[in-house]
Amino acid sequence: MIQRCFLNGDFVSLERACLSPLDRGFLFGDAIYEVIKIREGVPLWLNEHLARLERNLEEVGITHDLDLKYFINIYLKKEGLKFGSLYIQISRGTDRFREHLPSKRLLPTVFMLLSDAVPASLPSDPLKVIPIDDFRWGRCDIKVTSLAANVLAKIKAQKEGFDEVVFVSSRGEVREGGSSSVFVKIGGIWFTHPLDNHILPGITREKILKIFRDKGIEYIERPALIKDIESWEEICVCGTLTGVAPVARFGEVKFSLPFEEVIRIANAYDELERNYVDSFSW
Ligand code: PLP
Repeated sequence: MIQRCFLNGDFVSLERACLSPLDRGFLFGDAIYEVIKIREGVPLWLNEHLARLERNLEEVGITHDLDLKYFINIYLKKEGLKFGSLYIQISRGTDRFREHLPSKRLLPTVFMLLSDAVPASLPSDPLKVIPIDDFRWGRCDIKVTSLAANVLAKIKAQKEGFDEVVFVSSRGEVREGGSSSVFVKIGGIWFTHPLDNHILPGITREKILKIFRDKGIEYIERPALIKDIESWEEICVCGTLTGVAPVARFGEVKFSLPFEEVIRIANAYDELERNYVDSFSW
């Protein structure tokens, strides 16, 4: 069990970690986060995750001056964690009162927490996903902590016996999962939503596209359409904690085994992770 978290430069026990109720992350979800998979003690795709974090912080105007890589290294060594994940959250900071407009020059709140819950193994079990009209805000490319829409959608999915939700636009375009990216194979070509304000630029998505290029697998960054569902051949969802998972059911439509190409992609992704671990150095 992980006993300590990182808070504003200190490693403190979870019971003693204190945060003001006036923290803007708590009051407004005015915070950016990242989730990084830990494999054999190595934070996977660390530079990519930290680059996305910094990009997102810049996007919302939060600045900090902590050397996160340095503290992640110390934290992992202190806990001796080999398999699990790291959560990072940076909020705009603690204000003097609750007011939408933030005061100038707030000190950001920097929080990190390791988890020893092991992310999905590869290849993952097939999932059941439920399509839901996308009712999130218009900047899904920013990894903000205000995730009420994703939480509500995932609760609905769970209540109805599904593992994950897939957000669909009013025009029937498949966007992304509640916490995953989505790929659909049609006519031998993998479709995935292009990078824009409607989806998070997933790190795993980027790695899968690299595998496609390396292996000469055809893909197109264009959304699959619900109206074409009869011609969908395979689907998969992927993400830091999801791994690469074949989809066995999309709403009422069933997809049957053996999910051959998804399994091949999942194995290739696993190998990419292994190579990263082997060549990693701080
Ligand atoms: N899309 C959403 C909405 C997510 O929350 C996530 C991950 O949590 C992803 C996609 C997958 O991103 P990544 O591969 O960087 O984990």
